[in-house]
Amino acid sequence: MSAEVQCPAGCGSMEYKTTRNLKIRAFDPLGTVFYLAGLILIANSIEVGSDETNPGVIIGALLFIPGVYLSSLVTTDLRCNNCAGVILESKSIDQKLKGDALGLALNKAKYVREALSASKQEGEYNCPDCGKKMSHISVPLEEEVLHRSNIVVPDVVDDIQNWTSGASRTIDLDGCIECDLLWFDKDKKEEVLSRDGTIIPKHS
Ligand SMILES: [Zn+2]
Ligand SMILES: [Zn+2]
Repeated sequence: MSAEVQCPAGCGSMEYKTTRNLKIRAFDPLGTVFYLAGLILIANSIEVGSDETNPGVIIGALLFIPGVYLSSLVTTDLRCNNCAGVILESKSIDQKLKGDALGLALNKAKYVREALSASKQEGEYNCPDCGKKMSHISVPLEEEVLHRSNIVVPDVVDDIQNWTSGASRTIDLDGCIECDLLWFDKDKKEEVLSRDGTIIPKHS
C-alpha cells in the first residue's frame, strides 16, 4: 500500500496508529505465564460460600492483571481522525479475527474473506488501494457466554455494556478481497468484531 492512504469516506489521509487491545490474547512468553498462573491461582482459591477473601485470589489477581496486559495484542492500523473509520490490512485481519479457543466458533478472518468473495452487494465507497468499489457484508455475532459469566474475567477486561448474556448482533462492514483489506466506518465496530469474546457461531 502507498505511504499515504486516503480515507474511503473522503476525509483526507489516514494515519497508522499502534494500539494495544486488552480484549485480544496474543502470545507473549512472560505475559502468558502470568496470565495462566493468575487464572489457575484464582480458580483454586475461590471458596464458595466464604466471606473471607483468600490471599490466593489477591496474589492471583496481581499475576493475572499484568498477564492480561503483556499477553494482549498490539497492532498498527490505519485510522481516520475525522470520521473514526478504521482499515485492517492482511496482517491485522489474521491477528485480530481468530476463532475461539474451544473451537465452537468459526474463524472470523476466514468467514469474513469468504463472505466478501461471495458478496453481491456493493459498499458505499471505493477501495483506497485499488480504487474499485468495495463489497459489503453483514457478519452475525454472538457474545461468548463463557466470557460474560466467568468470574475470573474482571471488569477491566470486559466492558461490554449493552450486551446481555449470549446476545446476538450483526456487524456491517465493507472490504476489498483483492487487496485483502477491511473498512469499518466506526472504530467501535472493529473493536466488537475483533475481541476474543465475540464469536461467529458455527450454526449461523
Ligand atoms: Zn474518514
Ligand atoms: Zn482493493
